[in-house]
Amino acid sequence: EAKGRGRNTFHFFDQAMNARALRRMDIEMALRQAIPQNQLELHYQPKIASASGALAGVEALVRWRRPGEGLVQPDEFIPLAEESDLIVAVGEWVLNEACRQIRDWEARGFGEVAVAVNLSPRHFLHEKDVDGIFRIVDQSGVRPDLIEVEVTESTFMHEPEKVIGYLNRLRDRGFGIAIDDFGSGYSSLSYLRRLPITTLKIDRAFVMDIEHNADNAEIIRAIIAMANAMGLGLIAEGVENRHQFEFLRHADCGVVQGYYFSRPLPPADLEAQLVRQGADSMAPLSLSASQT
Ligand code: C2E
Ligand code: MG
Ligand code: MG
Ligand code: MG
Repeated sequence: EAKGRGRNTFHFFDQAMNARALRRMDIEMALRQAIPQNQLELHYQPKIASASGALAGVEALVRWRRPGEGLVQPDEFIPLAEESDLIVAVGEWVLNEACRQIRDWEARGFGEVAVAVNLSPRHFLHEKDVDGIFRIVDQSGVRPDLIEVEVTESTFMHEPEKVIGYLNRLRDRGFGIAIDDFGSGYSSLSYLRRLPITTLKIDRAFVMDIEHNADNAEIIRAIIAMANAMGLGLIAEGVENRHQFEFLRHADCGVVQGYYFSRPLPPADLEAQLVRQGADSMAPLSLSASQT
């Protein structure tokens, strides 16, 4: 009896593992094809200057329009892509498309929109991949200061000296560099001083809890004070309501981003928003909370 149940349990577990492994292989093979077959697309989430409401730029977030499956969100394929060099190909596609979009917005009178792109830790392991970043942006003709590279703290876990060297090269050329999900990792403050970064992006987990967790409100104030002391820009991500926004604005967090202002939007929807606000290329583009 016990033996039988054991065997059944094992059998079930085995099948579940098998299904998972198959699903992973399926995603990985299909994702390799997705790039040449043009199935990836970028959505853009506005970043808002908290004092003026002006558009401070956008973050590019990748989606996969997979035939027969609809729009696949990054959490379903980015972690898998990060297990191999496939993520470098994804990153290069994203950067290339973001540059094309910047030029397109410029040409069509939307002005110079700064775009943040997410690059995986793996993108900073080999010099040739970092050279690829320069090649793509140079070829596009986009000014590097319109590009902000978002990296997570884990980017510095392996061979930090090498990675810092690469990021210094990006800094020297004028790229912005933000630490994404800041506060969720383990960086010590003294370590942070050595990184060639321009912006701290406060992790959504702290913002989410502002109303209910006095400790997190204090952590946010401390991060803001530290960023100010170090001359770093600040963005809070995951702002979902007016209360959170007001807290951050009063705490002097320069830039905010979240569903309260807008979800990530396909380019045409973002453009419609900008036009609806009566924006032209001379005036600051502003988005008012919160129509979505
Ligand atoms: P992230 O870079 O920290 O991006 C923020 C994520 O939070 C996005 O999810 C965004 O849609 C979501 N978000 C924004 N505002 C709110 C809010 O107010 N509330 C809540 N609950 N969520 C909000 P998304 O687009 O699903 O991306 C998830 C993660 O996937 C990203 O986190 C990033 O780590 C990764 N990712 C997305 N695009 C790329 C990419 O092009 N390359 C790489 N390497 N990773 C990417
Ligand atoms: Mg990000
Ligand atoms: Mg983030
Ligand atoms: Mg994240």
